[in-house]
Amino acid sequence: MTIDEPLRVIGGRTARLAPGPDGVRLTPDDGPPGELFAGPGWADAHAHVYDGMTEIGVAADEVGLATGVHLLGDAGSAGAATLNGLVKYVVPAAEVRIRAWVNIGSYGLVHMRETADIRDVDVDATLAAIDRHRDIVCGVKVRSSGVIVGAMGLQPLQLGRLVAREAGLPLMVHIGEAPPLIEDVLDLLGDGDVVTHCYHGKTGHPWRADGRPSPALDRALNRGVRLDVGHGAASFAADIARRAIAAGFPPHSISTDVHVRNIRGPVHDLPTTMTKLLACGMPLDDVIAAVTHAPRDVLGAAEPWLDEDGVVRHATVFRLTETAPPHRTYKDARGVILDPRAHIVPVATVRNGTLTAAGPG
Ligand SMILES: [Zn+2]
Repeated sequence: MTIDEPLRVIGGRTARLAPGPDGVRLTPDDGPPGELFAGPGWADAHAHVYDGMTEIGVAADEVGLATGVHLLGDAGSAGAATLNGLVKYVVPAAEVRIRAWVNIGSYGLVHMRETADIRDVDVDATLAAIDRHRDIVCGVKVRSSGVIVGAMGLQPLQLGRLVAREAGLPLMVHIGEAPPLIEDVLDLLGDGDVVTHCYHGKTGHPWRADGRPSPALDRALNRGVRLDVGHGAASFAADIARRAIAAGFPPHSISTDVHVRNIRGPVHDLPTTMTKLLACGMPLDDVIAAVTHAPRDVLGAAEPWLDEDGVVRHATVFRLTETAPPHRTYKDARGVILDPRAHIVPVATVRNGTLTAAGPG
């Protein structure tokens, strides 16, 4: 495909995309900017793409380049006992790049109470799995909420933290209903760790009514803990997000937690989730940073999108439209309908020197 309109490059300039012998190049343009935007390739730090092994996995390419996403973080679908399969069969078969948060539960999300039994957690086997797949593993995933951990309480998180610290990797922690209490969860996290489902809105969530963080979350943020949206089927409350963003606490990264049970709604895809955060008051440039620099940094894929001579290494081109794409709905995880004034719709991606059309957003 070709794009014959001038683009607004995230960060300010106007430019055109021109295919050439050395790939696709971004060249400055004096004309008025059009409706198209270009910036780094999007990344979704929390998705579930272990298709065929877990009941909830979607096909990676269904939520990949066709939706503007270049890079996915599979968030704990695989544990020590099942990571080899993800690396051997899923990663090389997908066009979209995949990084993995390895679950502290050995079987990952093959069953959905992966850490309810101590026999399903093996610290040394998890460290060995990480060492086998250093090029794919970006961190350790622990789901630290009552329905998952049962009587194990904080132990999965404590053991996950042990593995993460030994391996020198961040933790991604799913928060939700107590027990364990959110204060106890947050107090175990440190610089670079990620709290996913940060705006979940269930009883015991870490936000005050004025949108400011609870004392434990405030302490965690001051230690360098990062907030990740992880929308999911039950983990995004728009009113919590709106108040937190207004109070100056936007997410570091916007992610979908896309899986089989939410891909037909309420999640759909990353651009739908991005549009919801836009509707909750995040400026466009911040939304883009939260799907580019922030998650790429977390996923260990922060390479620049543009060479100095203008050659594009990776990019997502998108349009901001006034009308929603036909199949999109905007409900949060409680069924509250959002009414965005602008809609982020992917148009194309550039990767490996090729400009490819993206599907309808
Ligand atoms: Zn998830």
